[in-house]
Amino acid sequence: MAAPKPIQIIGGGLAGLTLGIALRKREIPVTIFEAGNYPRHRVCGEFVSGHGLEIINALGLKDKFLDAGAIEARSSTFFSGKPGLPVRQLPSPALCLSRFVMDKLLADEFQNLGGELRAGARWQDELGEGIVHASGRKSQPVANGWRWFGLKAHARNVFPVADLEMHVFKNGYVGICKLAAGEVNVCGLFRRNGSESSQSHGFDLLRGNPGTILHERLAHAEFDEKSFCSVAGLSLKPHRASEKSEVCIGDALTMIPPVTGNGMSLAFESAQLAVEPLAAFSRGEIAWNDAREKIARACDEQFSRRLRWASRLQQFLLSSSLPNPIKIFAARSDWFWQFAFERTR
Ligand SMILES: Cc1cc2nc3c(=O)[nH]c(=O)nc-3n(C[C@H](O)[C@H](O)[C@H](O)COP(=O)(O)OP(=O)(O)OC[C@H]3O[C@@H](n4cnc5c(N)ncnc54)[C@H](O)[C@@H]3O)c2cc1C
Repeated sequence: MAAPKPIQIIGGGLAGLTLGIALRKREIPVTIFEAGNYPRHRVCGEFVSGHGLEIINALGLKDKFLDAGAIEARSSTFFSGKPGLPVRQLPSPALCLSRFVMDKLLADEFQNLGGELRAGARWQDELGEGIVHASGRKSQPVANGWRWFGLKAHARNVFPVADLEMHVFKNGYVGICKLAAGEVNVCGLFRRNGSESSQSHGFDLLRGNPGTILHERLAHAEFDEKSFCSVAGLSLKPHRASEKSEVCIGDALTMIPPVTGNGMSLAFESAQLAVEPLAAFSRGEIAWNDAREKIARACDEQFSRRLRWASRLQQFLLSSSLPNPIKIFAARSDWFWQFAFERTR
């Protein structure tokens, strides 16, 4: 029998590492090229929600996440002005773990399974057969007239009323999510008019405007400066895999609005959808183009509806044309809440 063909993955974030782990479990030779190093902080709400949790579990990683300090989030609430909305139980629990820990754990797992990880190595070669793009979000300075950017930091001395608090305002939202050992993740998505410039400091943006509940909540926050990170040039427009000429997974395929807390799940899920076609290619059972088409079809089937609803939800939350009472009414409705949750994962 011929030796399996190697798979090369560009990007050692969640999508690339999950794919690498699943392929190594099938004894496929895999090399991951990662431009950065581990461990590292990432801009992320660190709240994993959706089917991706089943994949993590099936790969035997959920218990490792829990051993590494992951905690379950069971409740959430939204604030859009005053007063806040009721604290609700999440229809299914999410898992919260710092990316500083999670990415390193996955990188170690991949290497323990015999995968070759080239950290600090940016892929600059030609593209071709056997190469998967898991290189994360594509930078787009302005999208629909807006510049989107994200900020994240960990903090102590913050006491949210639910495991996840979302604070929505005119030009973005900030989530506060409980992590292990009394820390919280404070992570925000912000937009600025294409021509507007801002002198605001990152921590000031995360703290919100004086007079808001967010500002009150973070009044005594002790931020861990080393955990602060930022990312700009985000594009939240949904993309279809069938439009791409390469195999793309995770954010390299498409971003989903962060308010859903589903981006990491999408990374795990798209990695899982790619495993069987890539393994079949590696064993010489199907051609590269067939593998690519199978993966693209499976991703589009699984994600298209979710991405549409996620875009609508984000537009609804940030729409300044809707009066606040309408938003509050919708968000107070259990039906609306269940519906939005179910449709965006
Ligand atoms: C503000 C904000 C909040 C978010 N909050 C949440 C949340 O609470 N829950 C959730 O589920 N999701 C959230 N997300 C989304 C989530 O972070 C992403 O969906 C997830 O990280 C995608 O994983 P990935 O592996 O596709 O990409 P990444 O994690 O970005 O990994 C891509 C990797 O590729 C590497 N790379 C890029 N180019 C090259 C190259 N040429 N050669 C080698 N390496 C390369 C990069 O260094 C990077 O490490 C949030 C996103 C934002 C912006």
